[in-house]
Formats: sequence, C-alpha cells, structure tokens
Amino acid sequence: MQPGAIQCTRANKVLPLPGVLDHREFTRVRTDLGRCDVCDDGRAVFRSADGRVKLCEKCYGRLVRAWNMGKGVSSG
Ligand SMILES: [Zn+2]
Repeated sequence: MQPGAIQCTRANKVLPLPGVLDHREFTRVRTDLGRCDVCDDGRAVFRSADGRVKLCEKCYGRLVRAWNMGKGVSSG
C-alpha cells in the first residue's frame, strides 16, 4: 500500500484517494460538511485546504497512518 493511497471498499465500489492527499492539508472544521468523500458513510469533519475533499474521522485516521507508514514513522 502506497502512502496516501486510501482505498475504501463499500457497496462494490472502490474509492481511491489521489496519492497527492496530505493529511497536513486537512483541517478539522465544525461546520456541517455532509458525508465523507471516501467512505460515503461517516460524517465528514475534516476538509482539505482547497475544500474539495472531505474526510470523516475514520478515513482521516487512515490517511495519517498511511502517511506515517510511508514516512517510516511508527506511532500508535
Ligand atoms: Zn470516511
């Protein structure tokens, strides 16, 4: 699995995120963003800097983990 490449399988859909996604570009917001762009299930609470991608807590966590793994950083 490549860093930043997140795949969600849901309802026979695979939704890969662009590999350019960087969790540091995401900001937690308090406004209602609607559904997560990746899993289309969780409530989105993170928004990318350009506002085009919204992530729920779970998918954001995976993004961070994938990024950490790519960086060789071990955490949690
Ligand atoms: Zn999600």
